[in-house]
Parts: sequence; structure tokens; C-alpha cells
Amino acid sequence: MITKKFYKHLPLKKYGQNFLVNKNIAQDIVKKINPKFKQILVEIGPGLAALTKPMSVFVEKLIVIEIDPNLLNLLKQRSFYSKLMVFSEDALTFDYIKLFYKNSQLIRIFGNLPYNISTSLIIFLFQQIEVIQDMNFMLQKEVAERLIASPGSKSYGRLSIISQYYCSIKVLLNVNSEEFWPKPKVHSIFINLTPHKNSPYFVYDTNILSFVTNLAFQNRRKILRHSLNKLFSEKKLIQLEIDPKLRAENISVLQYCKLSNYLYKKNKNILKK
Ligand code: SAM
Repeated sequence: MITKKFYKHLPLKKYGQNFLVNKNIAQDIVKKINPKFKQILVEIGPGLAALTKPMSVFVEKLIVIEIDPNLLNLLKQRSFYSKLMVFSEDALTFDYIKLFYKNSQLIRIFGNLPYNISTSLIIFLFQQIEVIQDMNFMLQKEVAERLIASPGSKSYGRLSIISQYYCSIKVLLNVNSEEFWPKPKVHSIFINLTPHKNSPYFVYDTNILSFVTNLAFQNRRKILRHSLNKLFSEKKLIQLEIDPKLRAENISVLQYCKLSNYLYKKNKNILKK
């Protein structure tokens, strides 16, 4: 266990700095990511290098994106620094597509994510999914539960639908809050998100999927006949094999895709007329 006296850094709350301090867990995480020497691994928020150091052993080079310049200065003093390609940038605006073109190889993104940006970052990365091989992230337990939730569960919502639309998701490790410094209020879960190779889902337009799920979940306890009545008649829902008496939380990803594609086609026909 590393203790905080080793650190010449005061953790900043605004950057979600809860550092992993258990070296065995860090090793385990790297093992689960299973990096290969020539792969393009990108770490978001290396911080005090809990994952960066063990990861650097396995790869030719390691790309890191860190927003806090003080942490980057500390990183410069470390033995493995020569292996790093460092970006002093915000991961929320970083151009991952450019990185892909530079290397002509799909990228593997990982990190113990700052909890305050984890959801926005995942959604941002979905927009660049075609250049991503996989993502391995430590997340706040509640966020991870929302990602993997099935219809009918209380965590099921827009984030579950959009995440499962793009990726298959696996829980790799549960991590106790004691393993971080400073100790966060919540436990964490380390997960893998791998973009579908042969996706079970298809929508013509993901903006429509987002629009429909937004409308449905604005009132998650309302039945669909009411919550979606501006877009779908009761008869249309039945035609699409969706029970109008069900609630937003009971509809599968596939059914949301069906609703979105119906709207897409309908609007296309309106435009043609
Ligand atoms: N990887 C380290 C670990 O496991 O101990 C640090 C994890 S800490 C939870 C999150 C890290 O992300 C911090 O180093 C923080 O400065 C960095 N960070 C926060 N917001 C960021 C952003 N928008 N872009 C890039 N890095 C960010």
C-alpha cells in the first residue's frame, strides 16, 4: 500500500482526483486489460501513475491525457517517462480520431476516470466509436450499474440503452473505496466496454434514438401511451409490438431501436411529400 506521505501533490476535487493506492489492484487491472506490446493504449488521467507505471512495462509506448499540469510535472520525474507520449489536454475535447489516423490502428482507452466527467466522457467516446478497439474504465459503482442495467431494474435508463447499443459491457472488478486516496464516498467498479462487432442493434440515426429515450424517460413512471403520445398513437405502438401500458423502464434496447427507426422512416416520407 502506498501512503499519502509519498505524494508531493494535494488532490484537487475539481478534477475528481481520488488516486488508486493499492498496487496489487493496479497490477490486476493491467492484467485484465491484457495489453500487447504494439497496441495503442491511451490512458485518461494518469494522475500519480498508479496504472501508468505497471502498464508502461507491457507496451512500446503509452499515450496519456492529463488535464492537471502539476501532475504532468511529477510524471516527468518518473523512470518510465520516456515511454510516454503526453498530452496536456482535456479528455472531453481530445481528438481520438486524429490519434487513430496517426497510428493507423484502433485505440484502446483506459483509466480510473474522474467521477465528475465519467458519463459525459463515455458518451463523447461513443461518438468516436469507430476508432476504438475497447475501453476499460474504473467508474463509480452507481454509474457502472447504470451501464449494465437490464429493462425492469431501477438503474435502467438512457445511459444503459445508449451504452448497450454501442458496446457489450463486462464487469471486471469491484473495488472498495478504501483503495483510493482520498477515500471517495462510493465504491467503484472496473468495467470493459467493447464495441459490437456484429451488432444486434441498428438505428438509422442515433440522434433519434437519443430523442425518443429522452422523451420516454422524462417521466419514467408514466406508461408509454401517455409519455410518447406526441409521437406514437396507441395503435402504432401495438403495431410495433410494444405494449402501450408498459413504462419507459420496461422497454428493451431493441424496442427503442424499433421506435427510432419508425420515426426516421416516417419523417423521411414527410420530407419526400
Ligand atoms: N489514474 C490515476 C489513479 O488511478 O490513481 C488517477 C485517477 S483520478 C480518479 C482522475 C485523473 O484524471 C486525475 O489525474 C485528474 O487530474 C485527471 N483528469 C480529471 N479531469 C480530466 C480531464 N477532463 N481530462 C484529462 N484528465 C482529467
